Amino acid sequence: MTETGNGGRDNSGGVRSGSRVMRTCLGCRGTFSQDQLVRYVLSPDGDLLVDYRGKLPGRGAYTCIHRDCIRQAVQRRQFQRSFRTPPREVDGNHLIASLEEQILKRILALLGMARKSSCAVSGTQAVVCGFEGGEQFRIVFLASDMSSDIADKVRYKAGLAGVSCYSFFDKGTMGRITGKSESSVVGVRNLPLAEAIRIELLRLEQISGES
Ligand SMILES: [Zn+2]
Repeated sequence: MTETGNGGRDNSGGVRSGSRVMRTCLGCRGTFSQDQLVRYVLSPDGDLLVDYRGKLPGRGAYTCIHRDCIRQAVQRRQFQRSFRTPPREVDGNHLIASLEEQILKRILALLGMARKSSCAVSGTQAVVCGFEGGEQFRIVFLASDMSSDIADKVRYKAGLAGVSCYSFFDKGTMGRITGKSESSVVGVRNLPLAEAIRIELLRLEQISGES
């Protein structure tokens, strides 16, 4: 935990540094660019909501996208202090689960964008053949419920090409994104989109405590 010496500024006040709005994490008290933090707002009913995309109206509170910071903010009752009307109930596990869910949704949205811009290849055979043909995939998703033998085969091909494989979604979910009923393997070849997905995956690790 670090004190950053904010000169008496309260939690709600954003301070500009260049063009970026800086906010204080309620957990570690560090000051970061707002786009590196997760925002929380109060619902009209007084429930504390995770506003991962920063789109919900109202006064916001912020933490790092890290489970330790969320837990610390909850333990020290910082959310209660950040709003004029304190939230009804603050459950760290619930906040973490909600944040995980929103990050996964964001990854699916990015995969959908990759698909719409023809930067995603769907299907085991198409991805394996792609690797064999020198296709430059940047990231590969394997369905969580696909056959482990086939998953190993794709992982092997990806490993030879130095591409990481991730498994978060089932075949049905990946199918919905790629316009099929089911999809076991999706390869993304667009670098900026793959990088955007990678940032979300890193955040997911920091939230699930696997980093
Ligand atoms: Zn923090």
